[in-house]
Amino acid sequence: MSNETSVARRRFLQGATAVAVIGFDPVRRSWITEAQARGGLRRLPRLDGQLVTTPAALAEAADDYGHIIKRTPVAVLRPGSINDVVEMVRYANENRLRIAMRGQGHSTHGQSQVEAGIVIDSRTMNQIHEVKSGYAVVGPGARWREIVAATLPRGQTPPTLPNYLDLTVGGNIAVGGVGGASHRHGAVVDNILELEVVTGTGQLRRCSPTQNATLFNSVLAGLGQFGIVVRARIKLLPAKQLVRLYTIQYPDVASFLDDARIVTIDERFDHVEGQVNADASGRFGAATMFAAKYFDPGAPPNDSALLDNLDFASHTVETIPYGPFLERIDPIIDFLKAAGAWSLPHPWFDTFLPSGTAEQFMGELFSSVTTADTGNANVLIYPLKRSKMRSQFLRVPSGDDLFFLFDVLTFAPPVPAVVNQWVARNTTWHKRAEALGAKRYNIGSANLTQQDWKNYFSPHWTAALLAKQVYDPKNILTPGQGIFPSSFGC
Ligand SMILES: Cc1cc2nc3c(=O)[nH]c(=O)nc-3n(C[C@H](O)[C@H](O)[C@H](O)COP(=O)(O)OP(=O)(O)OC[C@H]3O[C@@H](n4cnc5c(N)ncnc54)[C@H](O)[C@@H]3O)c2cc1C
Repeated sequence: MSNETSVARRRFLQGATAVAVIGFDPVRRSWITEAQARGGLRRLPRLDGQLVTTPAALAEAADDYGHIIKRTPVAVLRPGSINDVVEMVRYANENRLRIAMRGQGHSTHGQSQVEAGIVIDSRTMNQIHEVKSGYAVVGPGARWREIVAATLPRGQTPPTLPNYLDLTVGGNIAVGGVGGASHRHGAVVDNILELEVVTGTGQLRRCSPTQNATLFNSVLAGLGQFGIVVRARIKLLPAKQLVRLYTIQYPDVASFLDDARIVTIDERFDHVEGQVNADASGRFGAATMFAAKYFDPGAPPNDSALLDNLDFASHTVETIPYGPFLERIDPIIDFLKAAGAWSLPHPWFDTFLPSGTAEQFMGELFSSVTTADTGNANVLIYPLKRSKMRSQFLRVPSGDDLFFLFDVLTFAPPVPAVVNQWVARNTTWHKRAEALGAKRYNIGSANLTQQDWKNYFSPHWTAALLAKQVYDPKNILTPGQGIFPSSFGC
C-alpha cells in the first residue's frame, strides 16, 4: 500500500503501520481508534473500497473547476462497490455527517463539496457494465469519453452529449446535461431509462418512469438532493459515421438568434450551438453558428437545402468522422491547460433565457462587459425546446417552446476581490434575467438565498420539499448546492 491514510475494512492504515479505527466521533468531528472509543459509537462499516484522509485527497475534494469555494471534508470514500455507498450513507446518517458524491468536480461553486463531511469519489465507479442495442448500463463515475469509446464500436451513441466528454454521467444526471443535440433529444436527463439510487436514508432503490417514479423524477436534475446515483441505464441510438459541419458567421447576435430559431423549430440539423465573438476592442458582437448533420457514407446531406432560408454573412463546410466531432473541443481544453487558464477561478454565468427576451438580456449584458472584464470569456448559446426538456426539476422558462441556454464562461484573475465581484455580478445578472423570465442553469457561480431556490424550483418547490422529506429527511445529501437550510431535517 502507498503512504495514503485510508480506512478500509475497518483498518486505518498509515504507511506500513496499521491502527484499528472503529468509527467517527461526531462530537470531536474526527476518526477515533479503539483506545479512544466511548460507548455507543456505531462502528465503521466494512468497506470494499477505501476511506481516505490524506491531505492531498482532502484538498482535491475541497476544490472544483471554479477554484472559488473551498470546503474540506473529513474523508473521501473511494467506493469499491455500491454497497460501500449504501453503508457510508447509513453511517453518515447515524453520525450527523453530511455526504455528497463528486464526479470530476467540474462544477464551479462548491456544489460537490462537503465541509467536515464525506465526499464519495465516483471515479472508482466508472464501469461500463453493459452495452446493448438501445441502451448502456454504466457506473455514475463513467465519463462520456469512456461511454462513447464503448458504444461507438457497436454503432451506438447517447442521443445527447455535452460538448466536453470528461464530465461524468452522474454529475450530468444531477445538473441536467445540455448539448448541441438537446434541441432534438432533450437534456441528458431526458435520455435516462433507469437508475439505481442510494437515498439519503441509505436505501438502495431501482427507479424508472414506471418503477418508483417519484424517486426517478426527483433524482433527474435533482442536484444530488434526493439520492446518489450508483448506476444508470442510458438510452442509445444508432450512430451515423460522418458529420457535415457548417460553420456559419453572423454580423450580430440578433441575426444569429433569428436563424437559430428557424433551425431549432424545423430540426433540420442534428446539432446546433452558437458562440459570440469579440471584436478587436473586446466588445462582444458577432456570432458563429456550429450546425451539424450526421450521415453515413454514400448518403451525404444536401448542403443547399440545409442552408436554405437562412440569412448569414459567410460559411464553411467540412466533413469529419463522428468520433472526432465529439472530441472537437479537446484541443481547446489542452490549450487552456497549457496556458494556465484551467487553474484560474471560473465564476461562470449560465442561464436559460426565454426566446422573447433573449436579445434584450444579451444586449444589456454585452453593453456592460468586454473581454477585459470577463477574462476573454467563452460565450455560448444553445437553442433549445421546452417540449424536449421534460424533467420536472430541470427548470426552464415557461411560455414559448423555444428558449436559449446562455453561458458566459469566464476566466477570472486569481484575486479574491475580483472573483467576489464577478460572482456578485453573476448574482445581479441572474436577478435581471429572472425578471425577464429566465431560469438559472445550476452549474455556475452565484450567491443564492433560500428565496432564490424557491423561485428556481417554482412551481415545484413543494414537490422538492416533499421529496427531501421522504428521501433525505435528515438533510445529509449534497449540502454544497445550498438549497435546503442546514436547519432542515436536523
Ligand atoms: C470544460 C467544461 C465543459 C462543460 N460543458 C458542459 C456542457 O456541454 N453541457 C453541460 O450541461 N454542462 C457542461 N459543463 C458543466 C457540467 O455539466 C457540470 O459542471 C457537471 O456537474 C459536471 O460534472 P462532474 O462529473 O464534474 O460533476 P461534479 O461537479 O463532480 O458534481 C456536480 C453535482 O452533481 C452531484 N453529483 C455528482 N455525481 C453524482 C451522483 N452520482 N449522484 C448524485 N449527485 C451527483 C455533485 O454532488 C454536485 O452537486 C461543463 C463544465 C466544464 C468544466
